[in-house]
Amino acid sequence: MKNFVKLAVIGDPIEHSKSPEIHGAALKAIGADYEYEKVRVKAGELETFIKRAVESGTDGFNLTMPHKVDIIPYLESIDEEALRYGAVNTVKIVDGKLHGYNTDAEGYSMALKMRGRSFKGASVVLLGAGGVVRTLALRAAAEGANCVTVLNRTQEKAAEVAKAVQCVSDIKTWCGSCCSAEIAEAAAECDILINATPLGMHGCGEDYNDLSFMPCVKRGALVSDLIYNPEKTRFLAEAESLGYEIMNGKAMLIFQAILSDKIYTESDFDVTEVYKCVNY
Ligand code: NAP
Repeated sequence: MKNFVKLAVIGDPIEHSKSPEIHGAALKAIGADYEYEKVRVKAGELETFIKRAVESGTDGFNLTMPHKVDIIPYLESIDEEALRYGAVNTVKIVDGKLHGYNTDAEGYSMALKMRGRSFKGASVVLLGAGGVVRTLALRAAAEGANCVTVLNRTQEKAAEVAKAVQCVSDIKTWCGSCCSAEIAEAAAECDILINATPLGMHGCGEDYNDLSFMPCVKRGALVSDLIYNPEKTRFLAEAESLGYEIMNGKAMLIFQAILSDKIYTESDFDVTEVYKCVNY
């Protein structure tokens, strides 16, 4: 295990990021000394940051918008899962070379596991079709989901994600628009409903204006939102008021961070035990 790691998180915007607190708590829990800085890196400024990171002896960095895809040409190697997702959220630097990983979807899986749930055998409905939906849809397929449905404002993007899933598995896939009627129809059969749009997120300025699909969600389903600020979006509050189990994006955020720390520190600790020590 590496006892000292020099790390960073990069993105734009980055001011709101809780990564320093989360990684700090996790690294403390595993007994590693660390430096963790938050760096605003705008689109097009990756190369300058990478040069600086290598020269200053940085061991690795986490990436958020808008760099998860743009980093790929700079990598010496890319882990199989990140390659499949076409996106990277963790970079480890070894001897000046960059190695890419993606811990987002595994982070979500671990959050599910903590609730005694999993993608295996589940019918999963994803609202949105951005980067994170692609990773979750592929992960759900890899873990043996029964069916993955992607509903999105731009239907072509939902179709692209469904096609990507079909390319790697033979599970049932469905795609469509995210109008209330379509969500209601899909949700009636689902075990896990996930909001992966920014609707309802602090600072987004927009929210679901029609939640009339919520009572149609299958009884016993988990209603999940990847948003963690606010802790309870209207989407989740409505689900809770109807008696559904709910889960926000906080556990995923923490698990993906701890999984990154495992890569940086080259250590084999129990991620769930470390999770219990992280509270920001
Ligand atoms: P993204 O690539 O920007 O995709 C956003 C998706 O939301 C797109 O499909 C977009 O539809 C849809 N959308 C945006 N505004 C909308 C609106 N007004 N009405 C309907 N649909 C709208 O984002 P992402 O990286 O996939 O992230 C999605 C969400 O997950 C964000 O809220 C992000 O904060 C959250 N997230 C959480 C974690 C965590 O650890 N908890 C990790 C990653 C992401 P179009 O295709 O039509 O534009």
